[in-house]
Amino acid sequence: MDWDALARQLAPLCSQPLMRNEPMRWHTTLRVGGPAALFYRVSDLNEFAQISEWAQSHHVPTFIMGHGSNILVSDAGIPALVIYNACERAIVGEQTVAETGIPIRELFLKTAQQGLSGLEFAVGIPGTLGGALVSNAGAYRQNIADLLIEIDLVSEGRRQRVAPDWMQFSYRDSRLRRPGAPPTALLAVRLRLTPDSKRAIFARARHLQRQRIEKQPPESSAGSFFKNVYDRALAERLPGLSAPLKEAGVVPAGFLIEACGLKGYQIGGASVSRKHANFLINRGDATASDFYQLAQTVKQAVYERFGVWLEEEVLYVGWGADVPQ
Ligand SMILES: Cc1cc2nc3c(=O)[nH]c(=O)nc-3n(C[C@H](O)[C@H](O)[C@H](O)COP(=O)(O)OP(=O)(O)OC[C@H]3O[C@@H](n4cnc5c(N)ncnc54)[C@H](O)[C@@H]3O)c2cc1C
Repeated sequence: MDWDALARQLAPLCSQPLMRNEPMRWHTTLRVGGPAALFYRVSDLNEFAQISEWAQSHHVPTFIMGHGSNILVSDAGIPALVIYNACERAIVGEQTVAETGIPIRELFLKTAQQGLSGLEFAVGIPGTLGGALVSNAGAYRQNIADLLIEIDLVSEGRRQRVAPDWMQFSYRDSRLRRPGAPPTALLAVRLRLTPDSKRAIFARARHLQRQRIEKQPPESSAGSFFKNVYDRALAERLPGLSAPLKEAGVVPAGFLIEACGLKGYQIGGASVSRKHANFLINRGDATASDFYQLAQTVKQAVYERFGVWLEEEVLYVGWGADVPQ
């Protein structure tokens, strides 16, 4: 692909400069990742929609990102047009309309200040609303999908308004994470929130935030690297797993990794956090390849000990065909 020629073709649609070879490690919370072939930061929703329509109808490989808090970008980088979504407007009400580039914790603050409950779980999640939709982000048994009324998006070259079922949400998953998903830009959503007293909303959020601070390591990470395992039979045969988790049939990935003795295990500059085994952290000089090898080692160890393959919550970007994208 001739990226300079493509940049010239795209320029008339863009109000800001297009950048060549922007290092992705500057835009990901793991602080790793090689260059994006072409990088564009968009803050106007119509511009975002028009560029997406153009790119999709011209079959330009495109990767849309928010805050890079759920991706592991390869050291080779991303051979695509990377659109950094900074469209952040929101109109707050019982039906709140928000653009997908808004940081989800900012959306929580805006809605909570108006006495609207529903987003308390998002208070410590460092990504955008768009990234939250793709992985059906959540915490403490609440998920973003539960609040949705409708979604504006561009898919297969066309701007459309769809119902939440279009996304095929499940636990930390939607159709946009799966192989063969149609190229799609999520533009904005309408959410349903519930009136409540501000004092009660902030008290709940503070309580959740305290639990998070106790458990979460402070180093650069992408949050939980692996999904928890929903397997009742496994949960029942694990001594040391708490009764509520056994009852729910959920095994935290961190429990399995810790049981393999991998806390603190390190490859290059990437290691399994000593504070929370499901956090893979950058000790300062990690490469994407260190993280990839560490993740594979963890999966293999858990499989050998417990017979289950952990599935990544983090998405691999720019790794080629043999790694799930
Ligand atoms: C410290 C820490 C704590 C975390 N805690 C939680 C937690 O409690 N619960 C949880 O669920 N997650 C958690 N995460 C993971 C992450 O923050 C969430 O998944 C977040 O919602 C991702 O948003 P993002 O903007 O960073 O997405 P990115 O990482 O930038 O992108 C993720 C995926 O979404 C796609 N995408 C993003 N925006 C769009 C768009 N507008 N249109 C189409 N595709 C899009 C990207 O292409 C990519 O495939 C945590 C991460 C960290 C670092």
